[in-house]
Amino acid sequence: MDNKGKIDVQAKGHNGPIDFELSIDDGRVTDLEIKQHSEIPGIFDQVADKLRSDVLENQSFAIDAISGATVMSEAILESADQAVKNEGVQLPEKEKEQTRQKEEIQVDIVVIGGGEAGLVAAARLLTAGKKVALLEKNGYLGGATILNGSNVTATGSKTAKRIFGEQAKKDTPQHLAADVSNESLHTNDQNLTQVMTENIGEAIDFISDFVNLNYGKAQTQTPEHSIDRQIELPSSSSYELVKKAAEAFTKKGGQIFLDARVEHILQDENGKVTGVVAEGRKRTLTVHADAITLSTGGYGANLNMRGKKAKG
Ligand SMILES: Cc1cc2nc3c(=O)[nH]c(=O)nc-3n(C[C@H](O)[C@H](O)[C@H](O)COP(=O)(O)OP(=O)(O)OC[C@H]3O[C@@H](n4cnc5c(N)ncnc54)[C@H](O)[C@@H]3O)c2cc1C
Repeated sequence: MDNKGKIDVQAKGHNGPIDFELSIDDGRVTDLEIKQHSEIPGIFDQVADKLRSDVLENQSFAIDAISGATVMSEAILESADQAVKNEGVQLPEKEKEQTRQKEEIQVDIVVIGGGEAGLVAAARLLTAGKKVALLEKNGYLGGATILNGSNVTATGSKTAKRIFGEQAKKDTPQHLAADVSNESLHTNDQNLTQVMTENIGEAIDFISDFVNLNYGKAQTQTPEHSIDRQIELPSSSSYELVKKAAEAFTKKGGQIFLDARVEHILQDENGKVTGVVAEGRKRTLTVHADAITLSTGGYGANLNMRGKKAKG
């Protein structure tokens, strides 16, 4: 090709081919545009955005893969590299940056985990006037949350009153707890269930206001529940919550660190928590804090903890 043009590239993704187009101008990569893919959209969108900006900034495909999405990122980078070579385009030779950085920050509270629990907690703490940092081990946000269809119970919320009208008045935390217990064949942890049933309404209203979410009645109502109480987002995807909550949180002054796997909890001589140490591909991040919020995901994959009768 001449010094300017477009190259169609195909990479092998987890779920099928990933088609993208590279724009080249004057021996420089000026765009990497995804045309088609079959990957999980919430994860793929974040990974593709980050790869695109890293490639454009570094003018190289010899850059780090995105943590938690290594196979997908390497497939894109390697096929792009091969495609430009096949077209005779010479990008400047660059060695991968190998140096590790050390960074140290001080906040009031550090939130560990960037799924819905971590994002809502972080947003809430920020709203309460705290200086908050959220640390996520992957190079993208969302955890298991990104896979779910956003269907959630709205018991006790203003949102439920708006959607279900008079019927919402009959729905109480005790009523919800009884249905959850029946649904899980009475294997559920009663204390955790109580925390959820008594706080879910307030949490739904809080995050709806914080990021301007517009929940509606869910198309699927849990058959084991004795009343309609499920709501969902217009996109039917919790990626909407993750994306909007992260944007609002950072816009209002919260800090998010990706590729930051918390490996140590710091304590003083009396055992009081004083912060955490997180490791990433290129950085050790020490966060000094008065408190930490652990929101690193559930135990759905642990048969012993969830009970042998609970299938799925
Ligand atoms: C396919 C599917 C469908 C579902 N559908 C629904 C539904 O319709 N309704 C519903 O209510 N629930 C649903 N669920 C369950 C729901 O998605 C989870 O309960 C919820 O997402 C848990 O959120 P979380 O923030 O606790 O965990 P996660 O979203 O998993 O977030 C935890 C985060 O912590 C990070 N992390 C872990 N360890 C560390 C560490 N050491 N340092 C830094 N970060 C760390 C993880 O990478 C992750 O991003 C579904 C789940 C799945 C898998």
